[in-house]
Amino acid sequence: MKEHKNTIYKTIYQYNQVPVPASDMKRLLEIARDCKVVKNYVYDRYGGIGGLLKIYPGYTVQNEMTKSGLREKLGLPSIYFYLSIFDALGDIKSQWTYAKKRVEKNIRNNPNLSAEERHYLRFVMKQSQCFESILVGGELKLADGWSEGYAAICAGVDTHRLDQYLRRQVRRHLDKPHTDAAEGFIVSPKGYRYADHGIYLTMKESRKRLFIPLTDNNQYKTQIYVRLCPDKERITLNIPIEVRQRHPKGYSGKSGLAMGLNCMFVTDQGRVYGEKYLEYQSAITDYVRERLPRHQRNSRNNPGKKKYNAGKTRLEKMMHDYVNAEINRMLETEKPGVIYIPKFPAKSKAGFNRRVNATINMWQKGFIKSRLSQKCRERSIELVEVFGKGISTQCSRCGADGVKEDGVFRCSACKMELPERQNTAGNVLRRGQESKKGIEAGSL
Ligand SMILES: [Zn+2]
Repeated sequence: MKEHKNTIYKTIYQYNQVPVPASDMKRLLEIARDCKVVKNYVYDRYGGIGGLLKIYPGYTVQNEMTKSGLREKLGLPSIYFYLSIFDALGDIKSQWTYAKKRVEKNIRNNPNLSAEERHYLRFVMKQSQCFESILVGGELKLADGWSEGYAAICAGVDTHRLDQYLRRQVRRHLDKPHTDAAEGFIVSPKGYRYADHGIYLTMKESRKRLFIPLTDNNQYKTQIYVRLCPDKERITLNIPIEVRQRHPKGYSGKSGLAMGLNCMFVTDQGRVYGEKYLEYQSAITDYVRERLPRHQRNSRNNPGKKKYNAGKTRLEKMMHDYVNAEINRMLETEKPGVIYIPKFPAKSKAGFNRRVNATINMWQKGFIKSRLSQKCRERSIELVEVFGKGISTQCSRCGADGVKEDGVFRCSACKMELPERQNTAGNVLRRGQESKKGIEAGSL
């Protein structure tokens, strides 16, 4: 499913019209339980390092599962069987993505690795066949065109030691998924039919469908999730749908924003949002710096690490809540139809101290930007990036160069004085509008 501009996914719910009889609920619960069994079977077999060779693109898993005899043993309709397999495969792939990100981060932050060693590790992680053969052992396989590059990066590094390091890292960070929940299941259009004020669902007994009257007459043609609430004699159908968003009323202005660490946004009108952002961010950085060395010596899953993770998660949640609240406040106050923001440089410039650098790194990963982008999409606000070079040293009134001192910008030509960030935001707005007219179209 592709996400388009101005569209977002929403979940629509449908409910049963009358209480679901206990005997029907029992049949539904049985499907949910079987799906759980199938998912855990897939997790167990393919969730570890050994499964890596089989999960992409997944035919192997599908074939092996077909031959496993599990479906016949459970008596589960194939629609539920295969959807559970795909669902589980999706979870396994997410675990891999997550594990790889963690490993990449550790490689980046490991002071004992030289630049060449880091380069080697990044290279082999990028080349999936190479990565696989290092993890599962066996002969090194390289895709066409990669052999030369591989030979070059191997020169001067201890590949044996680095491969061991990589294996250790992956083992540490790759969690095998498991589920104890059997509160529902996924069904695709082949497994249901809307009719007679309700929905007919494929059941385990062959050629029998269970009819459930619904409170509405809407019909959908997508994968839906059937959630069971046996104690309330209720089911809920969760239907993900793509919706086009429209502007809420009155969102029509144009805003230029300066973005920074000390406060999230300053508008071209000089209004400030997210002034406490750095406090939240520093709390996390301090926490990590003070607690991390102790817990790194301990092995995983010990109480110290759990406590550390819980503490860090709590601080991150506070920061995320703050960011979300401030973005909402900004959008509700400014009511923009278009927002211009400066395009960030790809890498931060050197020269910051360690703490600020770590903070900037996290900031640059674009958490705020991605939240802003999502919230703009939900409200159909256009978000435009403008060319950012020299944007803080230019006068937003006349375009001449000026100087910044103690947070104030002074123009050498027209003598305008403005808070530094507000001047930047003014330039963002101006560049945005100019590029819209095509004057600076080439500079983006
Ligand atoms: Zn000026």
